[in-house]
Amino acid sequence: MNIVLLGPPGSGKGTLAADLIRLYNFEYVSTGDIFRHNIREKTSLGLNASEYIHAGQLVPDHVTIAMIADHLKQPRTGSGILFDGFPRTVVQAEALDRMLMQMQTELHMVINLVVSKETVVERLSNRRLCVDCGRGYNLVSLPSKVPDICDQCGGDLIQRADDRPETIRTRLEHYRDSTKPLIAYYQEKAILTSIDNEGSIEAYTQRAADAIAKAQRMGKWRP
Ligand code: AMP
Repeated sequence: MNIVLLGPPGSGKGTLAADLIRLYNFEYVSTGDIFRHNIREKTSLGLNASEYIHAGQLVPDHVTIAMIADHLKQPRTGSGILFDGFPRTVVQAEALDRMLMQMQTELHMVINLVVSKETVVERLSNRRLCVDCGRGYNLVSLPSKVPDICDQCGGDLIQRADDRPETIRTRLEHYRDSTKPLIAYYQEKAILTSIDNEGSIEAYTQRAADAIAKAQRMGKWRP
């Protein structure tokens, strides 16, 4: 089953994705993670993308689409692909439809995460990230066992440069102008399910699992 997680920055896409991968063995494709990996490795893609990311801007469509097309050439590793942070524009969504068609598959479901503005700001300001392995934490809802140290690899936890208040504002504007129109795009294709992504991680993971089970019952996923 191929799924897109849609939602504003701070809606909990990455946190939910980690649980869904554990439950369903999905292959995880996060454009933000791939960009950050390339920035850490100082590749030409990373150098090209970093100025946009640090300013809270979207990386241009042609760069992002080429990167995903390249990624999708690798052998598949899970029970389906879980996309986090891609697509973020209608142009990217159309490109994804074409790429999946070429792979003789399709997008089965889009889970739209609904959260209040207050929750977004609260989650982003408490978000921390491991500098070495990229694992995400939240000071309140998902703290590391030892403060500022990654449970997984022992790396230092930092605040993402693009989680500063002024950059958050720019990212939310891009979400409103470029990404939110995808709700209508996928509603029209009748594959969009909105879930309330507030409250505890267990509660919203359960709501997403219920939505996936419903999509399976409706025959949207034939393994
Ligand atoms: P994320 O980790 O998903 O919040 O992404 C971090 C940043 O990477 C975003 O604010 C954008 O600057 C960039 N980015 C990630 N995914 C995309 C995308 N699909 N299109 C354009 N820029 C993206």
